[in-house]
Order: sequence, then structure tokens, then C-alpha cells
Amino acid sequence: MRGPDDPRGGRRQEILRRALDCVHCGLCLPACPTYLETGRESSSPRGRIHLMRAFAEGRIAGEGVLAEEAFLCLDCRACETACPSGVSYGALVEHVRAELRERGALRGRASRLELLALRGVLARPARLRAALSGLRLLQRLGIDTWLTRRLPRSLAGVLERAPRVPPGRERRPLPRRISAGGVPRGRVAYFRGCVMPELFGRVGRATVTLLARQGFEVWVPPGQVCCGALHAHAGDEVFARRLLAANLEAFGGEVDAVVVDSAGCGAMLREAPRLLGGAAEGLARRVRDPLELLDEAGLRPLPGRFEARVAYDDPCHLVHASKVAAAPRRLLAGVPGLELVDHRDPGACCGAAGTYALTHPEMSDRVLARKLDALCEVDPDVVASGNPGCLMQLERGFRQRGLAVRVLHPVEILAAAAGPAARPGPA
Ligand code: SF4
Ligand code: SF4
Repeated sequence: MRGPDDPRGGRRQEILRRALDCVHCGLCLPACPTYLETGRESSSPRGRIHLMRAFAEGRIAGEGVLAEEAFLCLDCRACETACPSGVSYGALVEHVRAELRERGALRGRASRLELLALRGVLARPARLRAALSGLRLLQRLGIDTWLTRRLPRSLAGVLERAPRVPPGRERRPLPRRISAGGVPRGRVAYFRGCVMPELFGRVGRATVTLLARQGFEVWVPPGQVCCGALHAHAGDEVFARRLLAANLEAFGGEVDAVVVDSAGCGAMLREAPRLLGGAAEGLARRVRDPLELLDEAGLRPLPGRFEARVAYDDPCHLVHASKVAAAPRRLLAGVPGLELVDHRDPGACCGAAGTYALTHPEMSDRVLARKLDALCEVDPDVVASGNPGCLMQLERGFRQRGLAVRVLHPVEILAAAAGPAARPGPA
């Protein structure tokens, strides 16, 4: 059997097959944030695909420029939307990262630490909760600020970029089942994710409450785990597959849809067949963003109002991977009192990209600055975006610029317009 080191082996064959779809037209270059920042061909999708093909053909080693460029890429997949030849760039870069990791081409301490944190903390709810509770304590006592002045730059940067951890009441678990209000019109399962309940419990509550008020019975399956997206992005395909398999089992019940309010997790579950094969097709077909589901089902009238000028910003994995762009805009535009404003670069990455803001802080900040410039031009009161990484990154960006722009998940806006009863939590 051919192993991963064999240039003719399975994954490298797959990399070559996908790389050969590229016809080198360069139409993706203006969509690529790292190309726009550096102007370097090797930091563009076309340049990276060229390197990947050379690697798959055994003409270059994995270490050096390929490893550097494969990880400088944000995996934002804007190049996929721009590509007329249908190159599956996301699958390509993740296969390459997995190949590099398994071949030992990533030997640095930072890379080992990242893997340790992803496997040992992010995917373990009790440890994640304990780590974030510790961080909250540091933040409340102001010790985090004190530490940032004393720690080495790399560690201080992690603390500076850490999100504010909300109080315990916002992190309490959701009930297993939330009954449908009004005339029932379906039963859905809710995917809660790993960081969402800890950092954005308010979003999960808004999602399940809104869905229930809109006539959906919501079930929160036990046994569900982290989706594995960050592991796959980091090249840990083995662990990502393990997590996906656990979710496949947890979401095996009879439901009309699996609702995911984190765009990155949603894309991962929709693409589960890539790692798990045909067995995951049923799960992948049922995954819906909450606004996508309500748009398909028809949003029942919202009794309340949301008075604000709102700019919607597409999470990369919702628009470029899951191809959901119109539904959130349609629903937000219909909220009484809300003025929806367009900005010039809604599909460009904000620089969050999973752990990218920690592993590549300088490039992440440059990409964020472009995004903030575009958003500031339309002077919004609120920016809406449906992914935890984007919420954290945009919130930090506006705070650092001293701007009082609120950053909310779109379901929070709909839940607020659904009236006071929708806000406190599930029934
Ligand atoms: S995924 Fe994003 S950063 Fe990576 S090559 Fe494509 S457009 Fe550029
Ligand atoms: S747009 Fe597609 S085919 Fe053209 S260079 Fe980019 S990836 Fe290759």
C-alpha cells in the first residue's frame, strides 16, 4: 500500500489531481488578502498551487517556502469564489498542511504547542471551561494587562488578543430540548460548538430561542463535540476525522436540519464527507445556518424593532465555503427599524481565520485594518457577522480604534426584534 511519503501515494495524488485544475489565469489574485498585502506571487493562490503541484510531483521538499506559504494562507477561500475553473483550494491547502505535518516538516515549538492546545484543550470542554475561567479571573483582576508588560512578546500578544470572557451566567448550558412556540413546523438539532458556549453563550441562547419562537422544536444532542475545523486547518486531519465521526453519531437522530450558528463549524460539517466519505452525506445535507433555515422556511413576522444602521460582513466560511450570502441580508433587511448598508468588501477576510490571529499576528492585523477601513467608510452603528472568530476580531479592531461600533451575530438582531420574551433564554 502506498504511504503518505510515496509521491504517488493517496493524499499526494489527490493534491496533484486538484492542483491540475488550476489553469494559471490569475483571476483569483485580487481576491487574496495575503497577495494584496505582499504583492508576492508565492503568497497568492496561483503561486501556492504551483508550489503544491511541485511538492506533489516530488520536485520540491515540504520544508521551507511551501510550509511558510501554506500556513501564511488564511484558508479564507476567497480564491475559490473568484476561480472560474472550480479549483477546490480549501481541500487542497488542508491536504497539503496534513501532509506537511505528517511528514514532520513542521518542527517548531509553536507548531507543537498549537497542536497540544487544539487537541488537549479546545476539544475537551471541561479543560476549555477551566482555562477560560482562569482567563476571566486574570481579566477581572487586571492581571492580564500587568502580565502583557512582563511576558515575552509572543506570549503577551496571545493575552492581548484574548477575548473578554463573559460571566458564568452567560456560559450556562442550554437545555436538552426547547419546545416550539405557535404552530409547529419542524424539529431541528442545534450544534453548540466548542468556544461558542463559552464565549458567545448569548448567541446560542438567541439562536435556540428565536428558532423555538419561529415554530421549531430544538434538540441539543448530548455527545456532540468540537467540529474539528481548527484541527483540519492546522493539518491535524487525523484528529479532525475523529471529532467528525463523534458528531456523525451524535447527530444521527431524526431531524429536519442541523443548525449551526458558527460559520466555520457549519462549513466543516457540510464538508464532512471529504474526511468521512459517503456515510457523512446525510449530516452534510442537513446543515443550515440559522438565517438560512429561517429564510427557506419563511420568517414569521417579528413584532419588535431594531433601530440601527447595520453593515453585514460575510464570514469567509459562510460565503466562500457554504455559499450562503443572500439569506442573512434578506432577513436583516426585513427587520423593522433596521437600515442595512453595503460596504465595498464584504467577502474579504477579517484576519481572524481560526488560530491565525495568534500564529500570524502581524499579517492578521494588516488584513483586519483593510476590513475596518471598508466598514468605517459606511459608518455603521452595528456590524453583523455569524462566526465567533470574526466577532472577536472585529470587536477588538473597533475597540483599538476607539470606535463605539457594536459587533453582533445576526441571530442576536433577529432575536432582539422578536421581542423581550425571546431574549432571556430557552423556555
Ligand atoms: S485561501 Fe485566502 S489567503 Fe489563502 S490563497 Fe486563497 S484567497 Fe489567499
Ligand atoms: S482563478 Fe483558479 S484557475 Fe485561475 S489561477 Fe486562480 S486558482 Fe488557478
